[in-house]
Amino acid sequence: MKRGISGPWGAPATVCDSPMSLIEATFEWLENNWKNKLDFIIWTGDNARHDNDDMIPRTPEEMFQLNRMITEKFLKTFGDTQLRGRKKAPHFIPIVPSIGNNDIHPNNIVLPGPNDLLTILHDIWSPFIPKKQHKTFLNGGYFYTEVIPDKLIVVSLNTLYFYKANTAVNGCKAKDQPGTIQLRWLNNVLKRANKRGLKVYLSGHVAPRIKQYTKSCYRKYGRLSIKYHDIILGHFYGHSNMDHFFFLSERSRKFRPVNTTIREGLNILQEDREAVETKVYNIDKYMNKLLRHYRKVPFTREIEKEYAVININPSIIPTFFPALRIFDYNTTELTNEDHEVNLAEKSKKDHLNSPAHVNTFLTPLGYTQYLMNLTHANLYPNITPEYIIEYTTWNDYNMNDLTVPSWIQLARRIVNHGFRSSLWKRIQDHLMVGTRSLIREKNKRHYQNVDSNDRVKGPEDYIISELSF
Ligand SMILES: [Zn+2]
Repeated sequence: MKRGISGPWGAPATVCDSPMSLIEATFEWLENNWKNKLDFIIWTGDNARHDNDDMIPRTPEEMFQLNRMITEKFLKTFGDTQLRGRKKAPHFIPIVPSIGNNDIHPNNIVLPGPNDLLTILHDIWSPFIPKKQHKTFLNGGYFYTEVIPDKLIVVSLNTLYFYKANTAVNGCKAKDQPGTIQLRWLNNVLKRANKRGLKVYLSGHVAPRIKQYTKSCYRKYGRLSIKYHDIILGHFYGHSNMDHFFFLSERSRKFRPVNTTIREGLNILQEDREAVETKVYNIDKYMNKLLRHYRKVPFTREIEKEYAVININPSIIPTFFPALRIFDYNTTELTNEDHEVNLAEKSKKDHLNSPAHVNTFLTPLGYTQYLMNLTHANLYPNITPEYIIEYTTWNDYNMNDLTVPSWIQLARRIVNHGFRSSLWKRIQDHLMVGTRSLIREKNKRHYQNVDSNDRVKGPEDYIISELSF
């Protein structure tokens, strides 16, 4: 690595992957600080390295080996060795992984199941997949877990069946397409959950966006989110590394019908390639898009039922600083009496009292985001670095909970305060997970520098066109 920004713990704000030392340090910190303190884990994928090195091309075996290694680390870190071996007791907290577009070879491509890839991933993740779900996973790479039995389920979606870049499948229109089959399955899961009075968190790797999902998948996902807005209390995704949130609205259903021919797939592939090679897209541009997106949220009351909030978590890979989130959720269960009152009110006020809109049992209350300052860590090669608090949604965003109205309110505050406000600055800092000044400094050096080949490529070069709303 050039120009001295690399170090034993990883090269921040570059396109480098995580070194083993960073992975070890992360699990060590998790074990020391969070073992036996968490209820469940949502793990949004991309465990294998990127295919950035022409000298060492990736192989399928390596992909699976890296996924197996991370799985074993999760099991070791969060396993309860005392309970292990007892047949009936679960020996670790529920962990819900999902398939990343980088966990497979070639990238992005998953054929309709059952297939060898899903069989191998099933083999690796079988400790996490509930017994009755194994067949579902083998057929489609998705499943759900009752992370709190009879109360809360987390769904792991195989978003690669919705992803435009997966040219082996073709949207969610035709009945026999795996995306269509998956959304039909999701509809049934949500229907049954609704019947049983369960709440749901949806999770996956690639988030639902117009430019990343085929339009048919995007619209169907949006429709389901709105249809079951009463019971879906969160949408948690990864892939883009940037910490931010955006809205999925009923309005997006009205996009023109799509041309889902094979040609479309080819066009997208070309678009993607071009986007990676050019430097047209940068983070500032993305931020402006985000701001414009927040501006579109109407200033009228009672729009909550038309909106779902998509949360993108940061990642361990040092695209920015490595980071992760610990969520708190409401554990105060309603008594029967409360429940009756609640139901009565619900019928009066309809959606406004649904759990996605009112802070109630199982509503996410907020999260604390932890980051590892790699610039600092790299100064001390012999000291295992620790994660530190970057921010919390309570203190930094003044949010009381993570309901849809609270996110809408935050978006409104961002718009009201304007792009020069400290709130917007904070949002931007968080989006780049602590590396904003580092990236700015790097760019400044680049423009002053005569020898531009000397500049190390970073995330600012790779914010690609597909990240749009
Ligand atoms: Zn990804």
